[in-house]
Amino acid sequence: MSSSTAPDVKAGRLKVSQLEANFADLHPPLTDHEALVESDRCYFCYDAPCMNACPTTIDIPLFIREIQAGHPESAAKTIFNQNILGGMCARVCPTETLCEEACVREHAEGKPVKIGLLQRYATDQAMEKKHPFTRAASSGKKVAVVGAGPAGLACAHRLAMHGHDVEIFEARKKSGGLNEFGIAAYKSVDDFAQKEVDFILSLGGIKITHGKELGKGLTLAKLEKDYDAVFLGLGLSGVNALGVKHEEAKGVKDAVAYIADLRQAKDLSKLKVGRSVVVIGGGMTAIDIAVQSKLLGAEDVTILYRRGQDHMKASRFEQELAQTHGVNIRPWAMPKKLLTKDGKVVGLKVEETAMKGKTLEGTGVTFEVHADVIFKAIGQHFVDVTSGALVLHEGRIKVDEHKHTSRPKIWAGGDCTSGNQALTVAAVDDGRRAAEHMHVFLTGASHG
Ligand SMILES: Cc1cc2nc3c(=O)[nH]c(=O)nc-3n(C[C@H](O)[C@H](O)[C@H](O)COP(=O)(O)OP(=O)(O)OC[C@H]3O[C@@H](n4cnc5c(N)ncnc54)[C@H](O)[C@@H]3O)c2cc1C
Ligand code: SF4
Repeated sequence: MSSSTAPDVKAGRLKVSQLEANFADLHPPLTDHEALVESDRCYFCYDAPCMNACPTTIDIPLFIREIQAGHPESAAKTIFNQNILGGMCARVCPTETLCEEACVREHAEGKPVKIGLLQRYATDQAMEKKHPFTRAASSGKKVAVVGAGPAGLACAHRLAMHGHDVEIFEARKKSGGLNEFGIAAYKSVDDFAQKEVDFILSLGGIKITHGKELGKGLTLAKLEKDYDAVFLGLGLSGVNALGVKHEEAKGVKDAVAYIADLRQAKDLSKLKVGRSVVVIGGGMTAIDIAVQSKLLGAEDVTILYRRGQDHMKASRFEQELAQTHGVNIRPWAMPKKLLTKDGKVVGLKVEETAMKGKTLEGTGVTFEVHADVIFKAIGQHFVDVTSGALVLHEGRIKVDEHKHTSRPKIWAGGDCTSGNQALTVAAVDDGRRAAEHMHVFLTGASHG
């Protein structure tokens, strides 16, 4: 490869009509007939394994039976009772490693019931109608929630249902967290993240203040003083570094920040895209940025991953999605040196890796790849904005099984907490669980 080539990064690689087609719904919704046929495939297992595999333990056999009986709105209520973001989860859950992996029909014939799509069928219909729940009588208690991502929204909703007044403080100008700024555009089309926020807020009792950031003017001490309880759903705002020279060179980008720009772009043809793109990482973010780069018109997209493909955090389905979009996955390869020209990245020197006993090591064999843009997708970390007020575990907020932190009035959930699965559905589960425990704390009610 020649490191003297000027980077080829430009907007408008594809026509608007092509971009629209490329970013259409990944899994279009089921028709009424398809939903009935699919619901008929369910065996309605007793002690259903799918239900246990869902982090929010939705009663899946019950909601599928309700669809089968022609009552999609009752089905939606069953779903929302456990997971108020069931609409988004139906779109983004890696069902192939959760509920659908556990489905008895997956084991018997390799073809699970399409639980995610049935969930979407029910929730989409219900979200067009009046909010299915009503609030309990006012408790007179005030709760602060920091962060309007899946964890914060789920927590706020359940607290509001119990009659508490909730104020959410959100750093960004829009709510939704990574549902709005991170999820791949083809998984959440037609501004669904915002529609879901509106649906959640239509319950009443939740106020969101945007542009308010904990750690910048807003302190935990003040929240503890002014509110009866506090929930932190801060997500992860730190970007992990590659740890190689020239990381600040033009063309080396944080995948999550670029996806946020993509998600907020009114016109995708105005977004600058590299001709040759290299992605470093092996998780969902790596797959998402690689596929979306291809859909935006990049010619060559390669994912470099330092271990074997089986170790990638991205599921087999996601890896196949990338490969069917023409993304090249190159395992056992780690970045050694960024190649730059005039302060801009032009490529990468890569070293092959292998396991020596239990440790991963470079083999000494190197090669070069040309890149107009290099995306870092090697994870994010928690940035402590609480001035050290809370006990951390492995760099994140330490919580118990009720999502209670080391301080009596403070709970936390989602990506910012230790042991979290880093999935939308896991953040929703944390938020609801925390709210139930906070409710007990606020009212002395027995834990349900
Ligand atoms: C690129 C990408 C793609 C993903 N794709 C999927 C997927 O397809 N399926 C899936 O299940 N999961 C996916 N995930 C993971 C999933 O998005 C997260 O696990 C989930 O969003 C975590 O929810 P959260 O509420 O904990 O955090 P977030 O969604 O990050 O929300 C945190 C909120 O807190 C706000 N905030 C942060 N700091 C402060 C502060 N100091 N003061 C006030 N507000 C603050 C943020 O602005 C944000 O709104 C993806 C993640 C990424 C990065
Ligand atoms: S929330 Fe996700 S894991 Fe749970 S049943 Fe729905 S699609 Fe499956």
